Amino acid sequence: MNDCIFCKIINGEIPCEKVYEDDKILAFNDINPEAPVHVLIIPKEHISMINDINEENAEVVSHIFLKAKEIAAKLGIEKSGYRIVTNCGIEAGQTVFHIHYHLLGGRELQWPPG
Ligand code: 5GP
Ligand code: ZN
Repeated sequence: MNDCIFCKIINGEIPCEKVYEDDKILAFNDINPEAPVHVLIIPKEHISMINDINEENAEVVSHIFLKAKEIAAKLGIEKSGYRIVTNCGIEAGQTVFHIHYHLLGGRELQWPPG
């Protein structure tokens, strides 16, 4: 995906503050954090949004959650609590069309979201 900023982060064209990486996923700090911990977890395979998850690519989603709890533990928020959010589509506020999981924590989070 030539114009995808998250694909560019994966291939090193755009720098990031890396939190975790393996062969399937990358996690890095959000450039505009909404909480003391705000990590984005993305698959290395370009999937645009939740609507594009299918039987062939769905395995990475469970992998992301397995690693998300490890990242939360590493960053010291597994006991205090955290939230994982994926915006899907314009009205949900999705601005980058490479699926990503916001891992948010380190402060009390409000509910419901706006
Ligand atoms: P969305 O609005 O699509 O759910 O979330 C996109 C997120 O990506 C936003 O929180 C935004 O701050 C973050 N973001 C956009 N561009 C960059 C970038 O170049 N580097 C990093 N680290 N985060 C980015
Ligand atoms: Zn991409």
